[in-house]
Amino acid sequence: MEKIQVKLKNRQSAVIVGECLNNLDKYLNGRKNFIITDKNVNEIYGERFPDSPVYIVEPGEKSKDLGVVADICRWLLDLGADRHAFITGIGGGVVCDLTGFVAAVYLRGVNFGFVATSLLAQVDAAIGGKNGVNLDGYKNIIGTFTQPEFVICDVDMLISLPEKEYVNGMAEVIKHALINDYGQFAHLEEFSIPILAKERNEMEFIVGHSARIKAGIVGNDELEQGERRKLNLGHTWGHAVEKVTSLPHGESVSLGLAFSARLSVKKGILKEEEKERILKLLADFDLPVINEADPSTVFDALVKDKKREGGSIHFVLMNGIGNVVIEPIDIEELKNFALNGN
Ligand code: NAD
Ligand code: ZN
Repeated sequence: MEKIQVKLKNRQSAVIVGECLNNLDKYLNGRKNFIITDKNVNEIYGERFPDSPVYIVEPGEKSKDLGVVADICRWLLDLGADRHAFITGIGGGVVCDLTGFVAAVYLRGVNFGFVATSLLAQVDAAIGGKNGVNLDGYKNIIGTFTQPEFVICDVDMLISLPEKEYVNGMAEVIKHALINDYGQFAHLEEFSIPILAKERNEMEFIVGHSARIKAGIVGNDELEQGERRKLNLGHTWGHAVEKVTSLPHGESVSLGLAFSARLSVKKGILKEEEKERILKLLADFDLPVINEADPSTVFDALVKDKKREGGSIHFVLMNGIGNVVIEPIDIEELKNFALNGN
């Protein structure tokens, strides 16, 4: 078990990797607790939840909705939850985002924690205090920065996670390694088979490393004014791909990472053989590296989506493996590269 402290100005937040759902009670310290989860997670793990009222939402993105937020707040009011109440979200990124948002706004804020149950939530969504819901098709457009007291990452719960969701989370694990951990990158190359087979030691190792990278970056820049932007690696192109293709997030990010690697080679900061290693690693984890969508449609979506800063777009590029730099790329140059590869 590994306890990672997220170093924040105003409060403490701890990510506990390798802890077990059964021990959640220990972290509640006798407080009146309310659980938010989704139907899938409740079906598999509900019996192991501590004795608390449970609100069950539909699985999936549609639950990140203001109507659902209002329903949960009504439920909390009906049950007499006051400012000393504690809320625990048990689920993937959707449940964590929703729980964090409800806890941030209910009675102007109550304490909360997570048991993160998907790989994406354990290494990414549950860490960092960003939460939010969607509005009129715009993702995460309403939200706050509010930190959970704890994030329990019970890696044994990943066993029941569907394969495609597991692989989805691997895209973020690979992203974190590319941002600042060459050792983790080399480890992923060497142990892709046992990681894909969900061997417990491997899961604990990669979740621990990956969570530590995210927690470190968040601790340096809680409100996303600088270093935290590094976490957008693969996401500028990736979000545009996601929008025009409806590919899952992890696959879109994989295509975004491949795009960023190729662009970094063109910029002379990543070696050709390093790019090949990155593409091979993504493929080893069953993630796509060849964009099947029309690049000009993706490019148009990207430009539409991004604030233009003097005719350029800020892009996270790979400065070797395990290091990144953020650089403005001229829109015309980007277009040429996206459409013609030069
Ligand atoms: P999700 O929460 O929808 O979970 C994916 C699926 O796996 C769901 O069907 C869920 O019911 C199921 N599931 C979860 N854990 C399971 C388990 N242990 N066993 C079996 N099934 C399980 O999606 P996700 O990929 O975890 O998260 C995506 C969300 O996270 C998006 O809404 C995204 O915006 C958000 N996100 C937030 C941040 C942030 O910083 N706040 C960062 C990244 C992503
Ligand atoms: Zn992502």
